[in-house]
Amino acid sequence: MLNFNFFMPTKIIHGKDTVRENAQQFKDLGKSALIVSGKHSARLSGALDDVEYVLKQQNITFSHLDNVENNPSLENVTAGANHAKELKPDYIIAIGGGSPLDAAKAIAMLTTNNISALDLFKGIFPNKPLPLIAIPTTSGTGSEVTPYSVLTVPDKQTKQGFGSPSLFPAIAFLDCRYSMSLPEAITIDTAVDALSHLVEGYFTKRANSASDMLAERGICLFAECIQALREKDFSEEMRDKLLIASALGGMTITHTATSFVHALGYPLTYFHGIPHGQANGILMGEYLLLNASIDNLRVKNVLSWLGLADIDQFRALMNEFFPDRIKLSPGEISRFAEGAMSTRNVSNSIGEITVSVLSEVLRKSLT
Ligand code: NAP
Ligand code: FE
Repeated sequence: MLNFNFFMPTKIIHGKDTVRENAQQFKDLGKSALIVSGKHSARLSGALDDVEYVLKQQNITFSHLDNVENNPSLENVTAGANHAKELKPDYIIAIGGGSPLDAAKAIAMLTTNNISALDLFKGIFPNKPLPLIAIPTTSGTGSEVTPYSVLTVPDKQTKQGFGSPSLFPAIAFLDCRYSMSLPEAITIDTAVDALSHLVEGYFTKRANSASDMLAERGICLFAECIQALREKDFSEEMRDKLLIASALGGMTITHTATSFVHALGYPLTYFHGIPHGQANGILMGEYLLLNASIDNLRVKNVLSWLGLADIDQFRALMNEFFPDRIKLSPGEISRFAEGAMSTRNVSNSIGEITVSVLSEVLRKSLT
């Protein structure tokens, strides 16, 4: 029997100039907005100009919080929420990569609920968050269509996600022009994050026929961009494909969540500053190898969608994207593996996942 469950309530508006062409969508959400972004990319990408144009045209008052850090911390979102509580906007417009989008989700939830940022992880939210418009300027996290937000938690020395069905953005504007300014290295890092969502989603215990369909199409789109990623030559057409692959990845993990690859990747980012997508990419060869012993047919499917003959070719591709590797000490390997073991990502992964399995994946990938 097929299992074909699907729920994704975000309205996706895709295409060039869609922000300016859909001014009414902004008006429909209220009379005042808070724009949340990082320092530079909102302006650099052209998205902020379009949003400001529409807000002024529609007489929507707005202010701009432009201090979201990469891999936002609890302090960062708490400060943002304090600001939002004073301003009392009708809704939030998040512009940027996954960091501003996730921070905006946390701010939206903290503004309407009297809880601390740490309480977000308890998952109890008496009130709905402020509505959110999400405008991605990277093609990786798919956060514009997920009900998740990932934050850095210093006390736990890692990153952790929280989620709620009420966290889906109301609207996602997908305009590939906003990712044209993305530097080459971040383009590759984020594209591989999208690939990891698609691949991990395809292997999780929660995968269903609907998520499989999304994952397959997204992996095929990524495959069409491999040459461009190798040559670091990104036309608008390629940017658009990566943007849609990323959104498909987001829709996939909305249904499946991610696997232990993400759980092992978080400490690599926290302790070694490895960008999120890259952290996943360097672990994925070993992940596929492990999965081949559990569900070889699915591994073969992924490789064939990618146009790769075997896992060695997959590893070679990741080595080409990420030639510089750090080395982990034995102590780090056991600490990171033990830390990941308690996450839902691990219980969601197929196979018998133990600390020694996770340690092996880290050891083979990073020593
Ligand atoms: P990011 O951390 O949002 O941004 C990385 C860098 O790229 C920043 O310096 C940013 O500049 C710059 N940038 C973004 N767009 C640009 C553009 N168009 N032109 C030039 N520079 C640009 O990167 P990300 O990989 O998209 O997001 C990573 C975060 O998302 C992590 O915290 C990760 O854990 C999370 N994540 C969330 C989900 C989810 O479902 N919610 C899934 C996977 C990952 P500015 O600082 O100026 O903006
Ligand atoms: Fe991710």
